[in-house]
Amino acid sequence: MSKHFAVAIDGPAGAGKSTVAKGVAQALNAIYLDTGAMYRAVGLYMLRQGVPLDDAALVAAHAPQALVDVRYVDGAQRVYLCGEDVSQAIRENAVSAAASAVSAVVAVRELMVARQREIAAGADVVMDGRDIGTKVLPDAPVKVFLTAAAEVRARRRFLELQRKGQEVPYEQLLSEIKERDHNDATRAASPMVQAADAVLLDSSDMTVDEVVSAIVGLAKQRMEERRA
Ligand code: C5P
Repeated sequence: MSKHFAVAIDGPAGAGKSTVAKGVAQALNAIYLDTGAMYRAVGLYMLRQGVPLDDAALVAAHAPQALVDVRYVDGAQRVYLCGEDVSQAIRENAVSAAASAVSAVVAVRELMVARQREIAAGADVVMDGRDIGTKVLPDAPVKVFLTAAAEVRARRRFLELQRKGQEVPYEQLLSEIKERDHNDATRAASPMVQAADAVLLDSSDMTVDEVVSAIVGLAKQRMEERRA
């Protein structure tokens, strides 16, 4: 058994994973690792280098040069690409589709998963993504599959982008979310699936605080069991 505690939160885009995971990490005094940000950084690298995203062999060949690093500044995760802080740049809407495309490439996943496991081996962690409970940390004591209706997720994304001054039509976001869900769930390499031992939470009608409390409650229960 790992000496560090881990909470794995998987689920589709826009289910609220990162907001929830940050809250859970804070409550448990653990670090938060947003693994989607790492795939986003690789996607950004390929976009900048002009690597065609539908050419898996080329993406794989370039992947080792996309040096992704995660550091914590005042407790917040910052993502670096080849030494540059890209925490902001990876949130552009165009990078979402690029991340989804590169994440289907086995060589990219191998590099990211190795780094994610290294981080989990060194600290208590709350990690969110698509394959954390199934592949990255299959022995995590707490696994949650967090979902919400596609329309609810598109609406949340719309409001989030609007707050940042990016006007993207709701209908476009809904179809992008559905497309990403489809890509993530049907790809051959580590598709997004609920782990057999994960707890399913549908956040469509739950507030962030309600979801955080549910997961923290579960984590505390598992911690007690481990101590017993
Ligand atoms: O979570 P986020 O939407 O930022 O992730 C961006 C993309 O990275 C997802 O659409 C998914 O394709 C990919 N991803 C993944 N495995 C993870 C995390 C993200 O394949 N563990």
